[in-house]
Amino acid sequence: MKVITACLRAVLNFFAEVLFGCSHSKLSRPFTLNHETYEVCLDCGKQIYYSAQEMRPLTPWEVRRMKAAQAGEVKIMPVAPGRPRLVPASERNSNRAA
Ligand SMILES: [Zn+2]
Repeated sequence: MKVITACLRAVLNFFAEVLFGCSHSKLSRPFTLNHETYEVCLDCGKQIYYSAQEMRPLTPWEVRRMKAAQAGEVKIMPVAPGRPRLVPASERNSNRAA
């Protein structure tokens, strides 16, 4: 019975971490390494990405966008002043699957 309870608890913890992220509260100070700023959970070692400009942890959406920009999937282009330009379908490739 004790083993079943331990297994159940491990499975629940796994899904809680997948859904809600790390729930530990002991974190390192934010630091920057290889152009990435993050805190590290001192219990499980998970990296929690951090915004040095806004002094707060990044949301999962912001982390995904940052990773995509680093991988070159998202191009951040300056907006030309003046009239907006329509992009032909042949140039639109930001949503193309790899
Ligand atoms: Zn943790």
